[in-house]
Amino acid sequence: MSARVIDGKALAAEVRERIAADVAALTGEHGIVPGLAAVLVGDDPASEVYVGMKHRASEAAGMHSRQIRLPAETSQEDLEQVVRELNEDEAIDGILVQLPLPDHLDPQPIQELILPAKDVDALNPYTAGRLAVGDPTFLSCTPYGVLEILDHAGVETSGANVVIVGRSNLVGRPLSVMLTLKGRDATVTLAHSRTRDLAAVCRGADVLIAAVGVAGLITAEYVSPGTVVIDVGTNRNDEGKLVGDVAFAEVAEVADAITPVPGGVGPMTVTMLLQNTLEAARSRRGLPRR
Ligand code: NAP
Repeated sequence: MSARVIDGKALAAEVRERIAADVAALTGEHGIVPGLAAVLVGDDPASEVYVGMKHRASEAAGMHSRQIRLPAETSQEDLEQVVRELNEDEAIDGILVQLPLPDHLDPQPIQELILPAKDVDALNPYTAGRLAVGDPTFLSCTPYGVLEILDHAGVETSGANVVIVGRSNLVGRPLSVMLTLKGRDATVTLAHSRTRDLAAVCRGADVLIAAVGVAGLITAEYVSPGTVVIDVGTNRNDEGKLVGDVAFAEVAEVADAITPVPGGVGPMTVTMLLQNTLEAARSRRGLPRR
């Protein structure tokens, strides 16, 4: 293997330590304990795991963490009422509603209801719009984590050709906007399932980011020597093992640097949720963001 493996787990531990120190300072100097509320509807096992991870991580950082568990048959109206109450709750700085919701619930009105000042998951269209006009409030957690990884790995994005595969509102699309902001200055290609000759498009990348949800889609044929490869994908293979969108072993023979799955982007997603919650706690009280 020739590629440098970027250790997202170690980076996440380092950033979380810094966040915990900032929380301790905020609490010590101003008596503020940042509060994160996670709403889980139903008993989807993967969502249970994610909400549990967020709960433990926020408590470990010294934050107030509240889990609100609602039965699968909760109505749209009742869920909206829960969000309204959290919007009013002074102890809560950040609100997230874990997706996916049960089929009978529409996530869009729920996300639109979350107060922009508490929108730490950055899924409210207002938050997305602020990013789109180049004046972001909160950055959505997974793309934010990818930016931190690139910075940590010393990857210069200015003038670089970045190819992102996947155009979801959760990952690919906001990440494409972030990377074209002034200061990041990348030239971004946002590829998707209708992209013609995806392998050729990807071979033009200095930085290749896969956020697709197809195990092993990105093979060595998609990667030019010297490319930095970031794997956002989390998929289960036939043996039930967690794997990314990138065929790690063969791509690592060609790439300059690569993130593994697990231990790459995943740990940074939760970390950036903590960062957003800390920023929300500060800015809601008129304190400057760090
Ligand atoms: P999504 O909403 O399903 O979007 C997938 C995107 O990939 C779509 O834009 C789709 O194109 C594109 N696509 C699908 N098949 C393709 C193909 N064969 N060739 C090219 N493009 C293709 O998924 P998502 O929510 O963005 O998540 C993507 C992956 O990241 C999943 O594995 C998810 O589990 C993972 N994820 C990880 C984290 C983390 O913290 N590590 C966080 C979020 C998501 P169309 O738009 O044309 O359909």
